[in-house]
Amino acid sequence: MRTVTEKLRLSEISPRIMQSEIRSMTVECDRIGGVNLAQGVCDTEVPSPVVENAIKAIHDGHNIYTRMDGLTPLREAIARKMAHYNGIHVDPDSEVLVTSGATAGLYAACLALFDPGDEVILFEPFYGYHLNTLLSLRVQPRAVPLAMHTWEIDFDALSAAITPRTRAIIVNSPSNPCGKVFSRAEFEKIAALSEEHDLFILTDEIYEYFLFDGTEHISPASLPGMAERTITISGLSKTFSITGWRIGYLTADKRWLGSIAYFHDLAYVCAPSPFQYGSAAGLIELPDSFYKQLATDYQAKRDMLCAALQDCGFTPSIPQGAYYVLANVSAVPGATAREKARNLLAQTGVAAVAGTAFFSEERGEDLLRFCFAKRDEDLQRACDALRSYRGK
Ligand code: PMP
Repeated sequence: MRTVTEKLRLSEISPRIMQSEIRSMTVECDRIGGVNLAQGVCDTEVPSPVVENAIKAIHDGHNIYTRMDGLTPLREAIARKMAHYNGIHVDPDSEVLVTSGATAGLYAACLALFDPGDEVILFEPFYGYHLNTLLSLRVQPRAVPLAMHTWEIDFDALSAAITPRTRAIIVNSPSNPCGKVFSRAEFEKIAALSEEHDLFILTDEIYEYFLFDGTEHISPASLPGMAERTITISGLSKTFSITGWRIGYLTADKRWLGSIAYFHDLAYVCAPSPFQYGSAAGLIELPDSFYKQLATDYQAKRDMLCAALQDCGFTPSIPQGAYYVLANVSAVPGATAREKARNLLAQTGVAAVAGTAFFSEERGEDLLRFCFAKRDEDLQRACDALRSYRGK
């Protein structure tokens, strides 16, 4: 006999955690065989040392769990890279954690550092996973809006958002979705506020090499006095075009890293072993010129897409970094951004994401986010389709 029960139910938070709009656009795009500029799938070439050493690791039998914080050669390569590129000095044995992508790094850090009811500030437009990770852990997100299109920080609004329950500020530079690259001066002000109010800084630097027009990547942990309170999260998904491998990393003061590693272990045990070998080889073998070329190639892709968006009457905000463009698409029919995204897909076969996915309320209805981490031929196909839309 079926019993009526109030215990056989989803958690209270579940209805608030929606399937990402990005994934649902991807499903629709696949259904009609369109060009997917909705998701940052990054289907560009994987560097050969990365591929070859991952395959070799499988053949050599490196298919079992690794140490929970990751393979020693990989942690050492990450520590060297952090010193060389980010100006952050960490002990590879106690201050580096290899994670199952930056996503798992953020999740484990939030589990280790925050309690339900704590508040964490993030800038809007935000990356949906940042918001939903906080929500899923019953941590209260507080979104501080950046100025539309210039993406400047309103420091008064930032100060006003800090309450006695605030524990941290999440930053993401270069930023998904708006392509903002935070300046040193901005980070200095954020650092001063974090010291004044004794806050953590969680920084997602996954796009650290995707920089355009000569902008510089600043890691907040490299600023004087900031190392102890900053959790630096990054990964190789984007840099090596291996989003499906799930290799990320996190560096933090040893005071925090052990607990973060333990929470990561609880959910993931370790990052995939052979892919850790491939990633270590990439970090060790690829010269600085590889990373410079990456930025040059992506700047060309950015220019290609922004020109097409402009030509078809949309107004793109030209990104300084990462690989997304937010464009004003008021000209596309539809009452909401979601409708506009679906209409554009139906008309052109190009999938983009509704801007509302990156804002907390009533903002972003005129915006769509387009991703340019695509092979040139696919991006060209999308640009041609967008230009032909102009004529309709
Ligand atoms: N952070 C940001 C800001 C991202 O845009 C993405 C990918 N969309 C990720 C993290 C995911 O990184 P990973 O694949 O390393 O989990």
